[in-house]
Amino acid sequence: MDYFLTEEQTALRDLVRKIADEKVRPLAAKLDREGIFSWDLVKIFAESGLYGVVVPEAYGGTGQGVLELAIVSEELAKACAGVTLAVAASALGMFPIIISGNEEQKNRYLPELAEGKHLAAFCLTEPEAGSDAGSLRTRAKRDGDHYILNGTKVFITNGGVAHIYTVIALTDPEKGTRGASAFIVQDDYPGFKLGKEEDKMGIRASATREIIFDDCRVPVENRIGREGEGFKVAMKTLDKSRPGVASQALGIAQGALDLAVDYARTRVQFGQPIASLQGIQFMLADMATQIEAARALVYAAARMIDSDARNIGQVSAMCKLMASDVAMKVTTDAVQIFGGYGYMRDYPIEKFMRDAKITQIYEGTNQIQRMVIARSLIRDAASKK
Ligand SMILES: Cc1cc2nc3c(=O)[nH]c(=O)nc-3n(C[C@H](O)[C@H](O)[C@H](O)COP(=O)(O)OP(=O)(O)OC[C@H]3O[C@@H](n4cnc5c(N)ncnc54)[C@H](O)[C@@H]3O)c2cc1C
Repeated sequence: MDYFLTEEQTALRDLVRKIADEKVRPLAAKLDREGIFSWDLVKIFAESGLYGVVVPEAYGGTGQGVLELAIVSEELAKACAGVTLAVAASALGMFPIIISGNEEQKNRYLPELAEGKHLAAFCLTEPEAGSDAGSLRTRAKRDGDHYILNGTKVFITNGGVAHIYTVIALTDPEKGTRGASAFIVQDDYPGFKLGKEEDKMGIRASATREIIFDDCRVPVENRIGREGEGFKVAMKTLDKSRPGVASQALGIAQGALDLAVDYARTRVQFGQPIASLQGIQFMLADMATQIEAARALVYAAARMIDSDARNIGQVSAMCKLMASDVAMKVTTDAVQIFGGYGYMRDYPIEKFMRDAKITQIYEGTNQIQRMVIARSLIRDAASKK
């Protein structure tokens, strides 16, 4: 389908497609098998300007938006969903600064992040605060011109490879989510520690790690927004970043479909390529149709978000929900089309199925996306009465 991309967006897509084909795909199996985060690829992404896509021009970026980030994520994920996160999770870590940071914070941090000189990460999840993110316990206690952070964040993408961490912590525990604040924490601050490195089912080329704050001293000027606004900053961040997960899911699904079509054309059973069997054709047709429907929703949601529309939470959750469910279904069917060979690590397809699963879980599980959508529907209906 034609999504009427501008010349600039088409050029970005073609550039990232070339990088994905020539630089990422040849490394994907090795990075996955050995669980390697590739700094060589980060260098290529940085030189190609991919880290600056969501950063305004005034702070060294190209001033594009959520749609362009979606295009980048989709193209990279066709080759390797894990590698995609080296870019997408840095954008996630930058969003709190872009959305709610002050001039001084933007000038200090965004240019080097846009250049890809450093990576960013976003720290919300804790051992006792996953879907129920409001149960966070990480504490930020004011001590003169610093805050002292104590607590543990888990499952942090780009943990250990990022230099800049945007962190949600409680400044006033009595007030619950209204007592949370957002901070910019550098990995060289005293009391910043790396915890357990995760060994994952999929996206194994992405670094995922526990981050520990042990009397970590953070200057007051690194608080994003006012005290008590941290949860709002986190929710606004997720509204902007969920189409990135959705487009990662789209790329995974499209990459799997492309492999399944090729395989079906060449695998001969009953004296004919399995692609000539109607049962296989129907599967391929459904996979392609579901992907296109998800892409239409992701691009529409991204465009709406980039237009500064209000109430973007609902469409952002919808596109993440749909694209990730499509990715899981399509990759499972793709493995089916490969038959027994699809189950073997000698073939690239099983990786797509393992990679797809995370898109239904992170940045809010799909149960949580359904809650976001339903609450928004019910709120809208109530406001019309
Ligand atoms: C690889 C990876 C990378 C991640 N990266 C980051 C990151 O960079 N930064 C960050 O902050 N976090 C990150 N996360 C955390 C991720 O967002 C959480 O894992 C996710 O939100 C779910 O939380 P949980 O794992 O604690 O599951 P739980 O909240 O314990 O959920 C368990 C199950 O219960 C269901 N459930 C929970 N509440 C409800 C409800 N009210 N109604 C119906 N069902 C419900 C869930 O859908 C799920 O199926 C990452 C996670 C992973 C696995």
